[in-house]
Amino acid sequence: MLSDLQTNIDKALGYLKKVQDTGVRNRIGGEDIALNAGETFEVVSPVDGKKMVDCAKGTATDIDRAAKAAKAAFPAWRDMAAKERKKILHSIADKIVERAEEIAFLECLDTGQALRFMSKAALRGAENFRYYADKCEAARDGQTLPSPTLLNVTTRVPIGPVGVITPWNTPFMLSTWKIAPALAAGCTVVHKPAEFSPITARILMEIAEEAGLPPGVWNLVNGFGEDAGKALTEHPAIKAIAFVGESSTGSHIMRQGAETLKRVHFELGGKNPVVVFDDADLDRALDAAIFMIYSLNGERCTCSSRLLIQSNVHDDFVEKLKVRVQNLKVGHPLDPATEVGPLIHQIHMDKVCSYFDIAKEDGATIAVGGKRKEGEGYYVEPTLFTNANNQMRIAQEEIFGPALTVIPFDSEEEALKMANDVIYGLTGYVWTSDVTRAMRFTEKLEAGMIWVNSENVRHLPTPFGGTKASGIGRDGGEYSFEFYMETKHVGFATGYHNIPKLGAS
Ligand code: NAD
Repeated sequence: MLSDLQTNIDKALGYLKKVQDTGVRNRIGGEDIALNAGETFEVVSPVDGKKMVDCAKGTATDIDRAAKAAKAAFPAWRDMAAKERKKILHSIADKIVERAEEIAFLECLDTGQALRFMSKAALRGAENFRYYADKCEAARDGQTLPSPTLLNVTTRVPIGPVGVITPWNTPFMLSTWKIAPALAAGCTVVHKPAEFSPITARILMEIAEEAGLPPGVWNLVNGFGEDAGKALTEHPAIKAIAFVGESSTGSHIMRQGAETLKRVHFELGGKNPVVVFDDADLDRALDAAIFMIYSLNGERCTCSSRLLIQSNVHDDFVEKLKVRVQNLKVGHPLDPATEVGPLIHQIHMDKVCSYFDIAKEDGATIAVGGKRKEGEGYYVEPTLFTNANNQMRIAQEEIFGPALTVIPFDSEEEALKMANDVIYGLTGYVWTSDVTRAMRFTEKLEAGMIWVNSENVRHLPTPFGGTKASGIGRDGGEYSFEFYMETKHVGFATGYHNIPKLGAS
C-alpha cells in the first residue's frame, strides 16, 4: 500500500472509477436505487475541490422505506442462530481485509486523511467486526438472581431496528464501530453516512451483503442531516439512534426523537486537554502531544487540542514543539510521507481558518502556521497557538483541525481547574511520573476516557464515550450491547408463596 504517490494516485483513481460508474447509491431492502430515481448531490475531493462522484440525496420517503425494510427483516435476523450471525460477521471482516487497499485509498481521496493512518483504519474496521462476531453467542446472556420465592433470571434481547448516523471524519472505521455491535446484538440497521464522505460506507454495506447478510438487515440511505437524518431520528419503526457528530447536532436529534421516545447514544465533540507536569518523561510527552493533535488532520474527536504545561518546563517544551510542528509534512493524502492532509471541505477549512483571526483578536500568538496553503485543495498549515489562556475561544471551542493551544500552569490545582473548565469532557491525557498525583488527578478530571503517560490507545473491550457535552452512553465491549439491547427480567415462582387475596372475603 505504501508505494510512491503517483502509483497510489493511479490505483485510487482506478478504484474511484468503479464508484463513478454507478454513483453512490442508496440500498434499501437488498435493492440498489439508481441515482436517476431521485435527487443527487456532488461529493468533492479535499485534494483539489473537484467533483469526484454523484451521491444519492435521500429523502424522508427513502428513510421510510428503509425503516420499513429494517422492521420487516428484524424478526428473522433476531431469531437467527447466533452461530450463523457470528459466521456472517467474521466473513464481513475477511472481506474488509481483502478490500483494505481499495477502502483505504478511497477514504484518503474522500476525506483528505493521510494514507499512513487510513491503511490502519480499514483494518481496524475488520477488527471491530471480528471482535463483535466473537461476542454474538454470549450477547443475550443474563444473570440468575434468586430470591426466597422466585428464580429470577435476566436475558438481553435486541431493541429492534436502529438508526446509525455517522460523521465525515474516519467514516469507515466509525461505521464499523457502530454497526458491528448492532448486528451482533440482533438489531437491524438503517445507516445515514455523512454527506461529505459517503463512499466507503457504500463499500462496507456491499461487503456485508456479499458476506451473507440477508437483505433489509442493513439499509443505506445517503443524504443530508436536515432531511434524511432528521427523518431517521423521527421514524416510529426506529427504536434507537446511535449518533456520532457535533454536540449541537446531538441536541437537535434529542428534540427530533422526543416524540417517538428514541433511545439515544451520542458520541460528540471535545476540547481535550493534554496535561504535562514537570516530572514527566518530556520527550515521550512531546511525541504524544504532537501525535494526538496533528494526526488525522486534527479532525478527531479525541484529539488533544489544549496543551496544559507546567510553567517551569514551558519554554523549553514549546521551543521543541515549534520545531516539530514546522517540520510536519503536509501533502497529498496518498503520499506515504504525508503526515497532515487537506481538510474535509471548503466549509470546514473556512471554519478552522477563522480561528487564526480569533486567536489574534483574543491576544494569543500564532507561533507556527496560521494560514491556508496557497493553491488548490483544502490544505492549512499545522498551527500552534501560544501566549493563550483558558478563557480564549481557541481554548474553549472545538476547532477540529491541526491547531494546538498551549497554556501554562503553575500548580496541580490550577491545571485541574483549567482542564475541567470547558463544556466538553471526552478525553484527557496526563503526563507525570508521580503515580499518586496521576491517581488524584484522573479521579477529578472530567472526561470519559483518560490516558496516563500515553497517547490514545484503544482497547476494544474498554468503554468509549464522553461526559458533559461530549456524549451520552458508552461504546465498546459489553457497553455497546447495553445500548442495542433491552434487559428483560423473568421471575419463576419456586413454591407456593402467599399471594395477597384481594376481594376474597
Ligand atoms: P455533524 O453533527 O455535522 O454531522 C454528523 C452526522 O449527522 C452527519 O451524517 C449529518 O448529516 C447528520 N446530521 C446533521 N444534522 C442532523 C439532524 N438534524 N438530524 C439527524 N442527523 C443530522 O458532525 P460532523 O461535522 O460530520 O463531524 C464532526 C463532529 O463529530 C465533531 O464535533 C467531532 O468531535 C464529532 N465526533 C465525535 C466522536 C466521538 O466519538 N465522540 C467521533 C468522531 C467525531
